[in-house]
Amino acid sequence: MPQTDAHLSAFASLRRDLAGAEGAGGHGLDPELPLITTTVEKIVQWARRSAIWPVQFGLACCAIEMMATVASRYDLARFGAEVFRGSPRQSDLMIVAGRLSRKMAPAMRRVYDQMPEPKWVISMGACASIGGVFDNYAIVQGVDQVVPVDVYVPGCPPRPESLIYGIVQLQQKIARSRA
Ligand code: SF4
Repeated sequence: MPQTDAHLSAFASLRRDLAGAEGAGGHGLDPELPLITTTVEKIVQWARRSAIWPVQFGLACCAIEMMATVASRYDLARFGAEVFRGSPRQSDLMIVAGRLSRKMAPAMRRVYDQMPEPKWVISMGACASIGGVFDNYAIVQGVDQVVPVDVYVPGCPPRPESLIYGIVQLQQKIARSRA
């Protein structure tokens, strides 16, 4: 495809994406025209939800499913969220995958505090969300006692499709929020 055609194709894709963010009615323009009318806020939210960088935070068996989500079969790169970072300062999403022990809770909170704003949290699996089968003194009965959670992904463990669905829900939440 010639470079100009590629640019027009990407442009049309962006316009369709932004039109989708504005609701079912869109803005009434032909998506094939090389023209965009929108607001700075919508562009910012489009950029944020299209390039989520998760911080590495696997705690137990759910983390294996999280790792599978970024591998070739499920390819989280299709949703722009595959760049797992080793530093919280480069991340805007914490996926808590697995049970959180009381001993680990202060460390998790510290990692969350080191992430720049805006930032989001996905609680992945029954253990992270409500303690799962570990109803005992050693396990936090829900990571929302430690950090604010935006999306809960149910399951034990949730399959990669479930985590992808959770990330898509988060993207929709970001699109609806104010910049
Ligand atoms: S929800 Fe299930 S798979 Fe996930 S950490 Fe708990 S026991 Fe392991």
